[in-house]
Amino acid sequence: MKPKSIHWGEHPWDEIKQIAESGAVVVAPFGSTEQHGPMLPVDTDIRIAEKSAVDGATVAAEKHGVPVLVAPTMPFGLAPHHMKFAGTITLQPETYVTLVAEVLSCIVQHGFRRIAVISGHGGNMPGLQLGIKKVVCQSANPVRIALYQGWQDAEFARRRREAFKDVPSEGQIGIHAARSETSGTLADRPHLVRKEKAVKPTLKVEKVPEWSWLTDELSETGAFGDPSMADADLGRTQWEIKAEAVGLFIKRLWETDLPD
Ligand SMILES: [Zn+2]
Repeated sequence: MKPKSIHWGEHPWDEIKQIAESGAVVVAPFGSTEQHGPMLPVDTDIRIAEKSAVDGATVAAEKHGVPVLVAPTMPFGLAPHHMKFAGTITLQPETYVTLVAEVLSCIVQHGFRRIAVISGHGGNMPGLQLGIKKVVCQSANPVRIALYQGWQDAEFARRRREAFKDVPSEGQIGIHAARSETSGTLADRPHLVRKEKAVKPTLKVEKVPEWSWLTDELSETGAFGDPSMADADLGRTQWEIKAEAVGLFIKRLWETDLPD
């Protein structure tokens, strides 16, 4: 059954029950409210989670014929390392694992057995993995919950390498609030980018440390890489690649075997 709307929140309960019974995949976006340097809004990772989930689900539904429903986006995540910067709102790790497990467990209890989890923030990943493991181990019925691997997703990495082969390097580590996120926001919500503040920060390290770091130990402004190299066209290309990669990720999950 193809849902009338891909948005969970737009259905009454009896429709959600029918959609679950028909075997649809739920796409669950998890964001984060955290600083993104002086040029980007603190909801950047909420938007990344939501747009990646909705665009990916649209590709999965329209191109691959997968029945999907996108759950509401979680606005809070695991960002204690950004707390020295105003505007960041984080959960503690233990709380986050519990929250992830409780949200996913409700989706499973309503009869959905395949969930594609999409994060808008790399720092959420360890907490998401633990929460997912908890639900999979404790569920009465077999379930398939998959976590999209972000930059490590093979399909995304391959397509991005190809599309960015002639794009010059940022010259320093671009792990957060750098060219990529600034370009993505320029393409999607240009009115929220403060272009005059998109400058290359002086970083205190040359590579990502092996030790667990706080953002202010690496960057004074909270930005990385070179946000001044951001470009709306790059951002658009990135969103397109992401939508295709997430669409395929949802399709792979849809095709996995599941015992009755
Ligand atoms: Zn971000």
